[in-house]
Amino acid sequence: MRSANFDSPRLTFQRLMPHQMIRAALINGLSQQNPYSDYYRRLVKELINPLKEGKTGFELEKHISACGDILGEHSRTTKQQKYLDSLLMDFSFISDMWEDIPYKELEQVQIIKKVDSLSALVQAVKIGNINQVYEIPEDMFPPDRDFLKHVTLTNRLDLLSRENISAFARANGIDLPDKFLEHGYISNDFWVELNERGFAYKAALTNAIGVLKNNYPYKLISAISHRNPTTGDQIRGSLHDVIEGFERFVHRHKVGDEIVFGLEAGKYEGTEFAYVPKRIPTRLHGDFDTVELHYMPDFLSDSSSLTWLHTMPYCNCPYSLNLRNHNEQTQQAKRIVYNWCPHSIDTVLEIIHKQKGVRGFALPENFVPIPAKLLIKFSDYLRYNCYVKTENQRRPLRETEIELTLFEFAKTKHFDWLFHSENTMPEYLDRLSYALRPLYFTQDRLD
Ligand SMILES: [Zn+2]
Repeated sequence: MRSANFDSPRLTFQRLMPHQMIRAALINGLSQQNPYSDYYRRLVKELINPLKEGKTGFELEKHISACGDILGEHSRTTKQQKYLDSLLMDFSFISDMWEDIPYKELEQVQIIKKVDSLSALVQAVKIGNINQVYEIPEDMFPPDRDFLKHVTLTNRLDLLSRENISAFARANGIDLPDKFLEHGYISNDFWVELNERGFAYKAALTNAIGVLKNNYPYKLISAISHRNPTTGDQIRGSLHDVIEGFERFVHRHKVGDEIVFGLEAGKYEGTEFAYVPKRIPTRLHGDFDTVELHYMPDFLSDSSSLTWLHTMPYCNCPYSLNLRNHNEQTQQAKRIVYNWCPHSIDTVLEIIHKQKGVRGFALPENFVPIPAKLLIKFSDYLRYNCYVKTENQRRPLRETEIELTLFEFAKTKHFDWLFHSENTMPEYLDRLSYALRPLYFTQDRLD
């Protein structure tokens, strides 16, 4: 995630509105490394009006020029950084000095770039330019489909689909039992074999994305799911939650916010209770989200790679609750839909981290693929440089729209580019600091 100040909870987690995205892009474009910086400087001069904040005698031109010069430096001294920070306070995306954004004009000069299809969006973001903002039409995603609650199998990546298990078995030299081939029935022996070959969450996900890429390139995916083989309940996850959970983990460690583990732990074997600091504490909703993880694997033993099948995440945050209250009606019975949210993912990362230090992310393949820099950067473009234009408004992308786009991106990349592979896990927390990126900087490339 990007922020102008990671020490301020408000600025860290603030989602930018389209006009604020454009302001940030214009400021980034002031950099002397931008071949069009002169144009950006002229524009910013027109769009910032110090008198709106009652500032007379404000040396606007000098400010703009100093800003562009420092932004263009490859490295900054502490003094330069301090000066830049103070300049950017005035030009901040939340500053009241800004005039209205001239959308038409910015479209003409391609500072706002219109993108009209999902593949074009992925392509544009892959090239990525922090001095630009991408505008997409609302109907780019099928408007009549529910990508959030009643997500049909057409739009879910089912980790236990017959195709996914077959592909994994074939790749790992397991013979497919007749009963599985005929009815999809997974016998105990077959489970044992899948376990022995390491059919953990990460392996299942890697494999499922491979199947998607090869067999269903046009399928839109908004959720990862599987059924708990014992209860039949559905457990969902999303790429963006994995990313956000990881970012929160890194940010918490940076600012020293701690997860408080509940006293009830150990009451039931494999259950963890935790209170995760809220992004923005409010008196109304309390300072913590409460997470319960049932049937957690023992990360210190390499017992079973199948524990993820049974782990049920609970969280009292609105997003998670929203889905948990949603019963999925099958022909036989009602099933609950559980959902991995950023808090439950942050909790898992913390448990693993506490046990062995980051070096020993033991069994990370169970649940927590650690997003690589490429995936963070791609998501950042969707969150800070993309907006949707509807008939009468402009708005940031919704969670499901981010998710659908992330999956389109995932189809174009090898899994190891998206997540750290097991053996290249960073050794120290510092090495994960790429999760927190500045809002204003000079160049940004996806490679
Ligand atoms: Zn939550």
